[in-house]
Amino acid sequence: MLKRNDKRIWQDTSTIFSLLRNGSRKITIITHLDPDGDAIGSSLGLLKVLQNMGHRCHVISPNEYADFLKWMPGNDAIRIFDKEPRKAVQLLNQAEIIVSVDFNTVRRIKQFTDIVTASGAYKLLIDHHPDPESFADCILSDTSASSTAEIVYEFLKLGGLDQFMDADSAACLFTGIMTDTGCFSYNSSKPGTYRAVAELLDYEFDKDRIYSMVYDDFTCKRMRLLGFCLNNKMEVLREYRTAYIWLTMKELQEYDFQVGDTEGFVNYPLSISGIRFSAFFIEKKDHIKASFRSKGGFPVNHFAEKYYNGGGHVNASGGESTDTMRETLERFKKLVILQKDHLSDGEIQ
Ligand code: 5GP
Ligand code: MN
Repeated sequence: MLKRNDKRIWQDTSTIFSLLRNGSRKITIITHLDPDGDAIGSSLGLLKVLQNMGHRCHVISPNEYADFLKWMPGNDAIRIFDKEPRKAVQLLNQAEIIVSVDFNTVRRIKQFTDIVTASGAYKLLIDHHPDPESFADCILSDTSASSTAEIVYEFLKLGGLDQFMDADSAACLFTGIMTDTGCFSYNSSKPGTYRAVAELLDYEFDKDRIYSMVYDDFTCKRMRLLGFCLNNKMEVLREYRTAYIWLTMKELQEYDFQVGDTEGFVNYPLSISGIRFSAFFIEKKDHIKASFRSKGGFPVNHFAEKYYNGGGHVNASGGESTDTMRETLERFKKLVILQKDHLSDGEIQ
């Protein structure tokens, strides 16, 4: 069984704390393509603290994100690069500090990779994916953390900036931890995660309401799409302890697909006894987006890196394919057969 190779990189924070404590700065927080609850929660939790300190601060997301994340305080400060490229470029060019949250490679910010790479701003990276690229002046990365939100909270406490926290920022950070752990069902075995959550709860936000806004606010069509997937579109390769789901654009249209509707679908096959590897393929305009999840030692990040130009965590990763859906599924099945012996011991062929 592959040992989880937890790694912590904690570079010198004196410069960033000195910049943040002295004067009002123009700060742009950026996060990754298809941002999830941790990406948005970490960004907005940090945003509120920095605003409370008197900094001028914005968030840029490369593209649109799910409606069930839009209730978060500070949501209006998020600019979507796809929709407002000029404004986003302006914010990036003006920034004295750029904070990257929840990604480890500049490829994940797609359209503005080059702008960030070329920027003379002081760059801070806060993340929990393995092997962060060295595009930042200060890297704070810990693969053993439940979420980026947990590391943001650690960073704020380390610099004494938690004195500027309030119920809004605590609620955002809590949402990041809750969503990245599947409501504390994975990535959540370390006591420190619960200490952080306990401290966040001291800020007295409404935890049950947050759960409800994230998980109990779906459209009827989305629920039926899930039913359709599980009933008609899930293939189980029992011999290989693998199951996968796929959706075409036509099917998505039939169910009035909205961004975020298929979030979490990839996890369902792992609830089948004996299944260790799950994949989800969704057809987009010019490519097929792949999501991978595993239970145990099978490193889906290496699988995504090697075969799908992607990456991620040991048990949760993603990538893409430019083949047709049929070709993508055929190739996937061949790759799974290749992994047969390793779906139990974690190596990648
Ligand atoms: P999801 O399947 O929810 O889109 O992503 C799961 C995990 O894999 C997340 O940690 C995400 O950051 C990472 N991930 C998803 N797609 C990609 C990709 O195309 N490239 C890389 N490097 N990571 C990805
Ligand atoms: Mn995350």
